[in-house]
Amino acid sequence: MAIDFELTDEQKMMLDTIRKFCEKECPKEKVAEWDNAGKDFPLSLWKKLGDIGVLGVGFPEEYGGTPGGMIDEALIAEELSYGFNDLALAYLLGVSFGGYSILHQGNKEQIDKHLPLLINGETNFALGMTEPGGGLDVLGALKTKGREDGDNFIINGTKIFTTGMHIADTIVLVVRTDDVPGKSALGLTLFLVDKNTSGITYNKLEKLGSHTCGTFEVVYEDVKVHKSNILGERGKGWYQILGTLNNERIIVASMCNGLSRCAFDEALQYSKEREAFGKPIGGHMAIQHYLAEMATEIETARLLTYKAAYLVDHAKTNAELMAAGGTATMCKYWASEVAGRVTDRGMRILAGYGFMQEYHMQRYFRNCRQYIFAPITNEMAKNIIGQMMLGLPKSY
Ligand SMILES: Cc1cc2nc3c(=O)[nH]c(=O)nc-3n(C[C@H](O)[C@H](O)[C@H](O)COP(=O)(O)OP(=O)(O)OC[C@H]3O[C@@H](n4cnc5c(N)ncnc54)[C@H](O)[C@@H]3O)c2cc1C
Repeated sequence: MAIDFELTDEQKMMLDTIRKFCEKECPKEKVAEWDNAGKDFPLSLWKKLGDIGVLGVGFPEEYGGTPGGMIDEALIAEELSYGFNDLALAYLLGVSFGGYSILHQGNKEQIDKHLPLLINGETNFALGMTEPGGGLDVLGALKTKGREDGDNFIINGTKIFTTGMHIADTIVLVVRTDDVPGKSALGLTLFLVDKNTSGITYNKLEKLGSHTCGTFEVVYEDVKVHKSNILGERGKGWYQILGTLNNERIIVASMCNGLSRCAFDEALQYSKEREAFGKPIGGHMAIQHYLAEMATEIETARLLTYKAAYLVDHAKTNAELMAAGGTATMCKYWASEVAGRVTDRGMRILAGYGFMQEYHMQRYFRNCRQYIFAPITNEMAKNIIGQMMLGLPKSY
């Protein structure tokens, strides 16, 4: 197998476009201001991202998309996250939760309705899967029920940690519609639910990081959803959402890599400027070692993430695609751990200034914590790696 580490000219241009977009539309000072004030980032940013063509990469041209695959999505997420992590989070909600799920599971009507709007930056999505009873043990904890009522389902339940309710128009909602004794993976159905449907209420949760892309508790009380909004097949929702979750893991890993890179760049710059004992602190071996470790770990996380994306892009069968999920899980695990370590070292290098709101390092440090346990915890990621990649018995 040939190994080629070069990006194409199109990919280089795309990254350059994103870099310039972030510098102009959401410079770090602006992001800090929004984050410190606990403000949502302006929705106009999302539209502008659509206008420069970023949201269409990897979607069919007939809906306004441009050719591309998982590698391109990974590169986009990394570069967006380098500039503004919460915008990359919005990209995840739109392109993965919404776009990927609808492209792969939706019928023509759903695709026609949602994809062009997404690609233009005129709509976004949220994923309502996790419930208060447990995030990892989705099948054990899921209590949200849909009762059939003529042409509709009446949905009742509570979801927790639904991110992006304020910027989404549609929720990809995981609901139990059928009880299949002894088979909890069967009987789940995905719905595309209009956020403004009567019976939906949500409240924003206070959180450590990503202040401009809120996370919510969402209550569904007798929410009437027409059957035409079922995404994919009734009762098969669990198996359908798994593809989206693999895609999500690679995008999350890429977001971590973007965060790691910007924390590293700022730490490196600081180490050249700040002086102690008559020389730049980068001249002290302890700081140099930190930076060398950071650079090396970032490289390993990026390479693993690109490999996972490559495997998804080159999967010829569904079995190969599912097998790529093992590497997707590995890269999510490793990239989030690396982001945690890199931002921790960044804080040590900036020392007292790293702790100050005025510097960006503390924001990177706070933001990356969530990826260590979301979308799945790294403990669970290792369970999956053991099972899928090492042939060990299922441990959970
Ligand atoms: C900021 C943020 C945004 C999120 N956004 C969304 C969203 O948009 N939509 C959505 O549906 N969900 C979202 N989530 C939910 C996220 O996916 C869950 O938090 C995650 O799956 C973990 O679930 P939990 O927090 O309930 O932890 P639990 O499942 O309660 O786990 C608690 C601890 O027990 C460990 N543990 C549990 N079982 C095992 C096991 N078998 N083996 C080893 N260790 C185990 C875990 O690793 C962890 O350390 C978000 C979460 C956060 C924090």
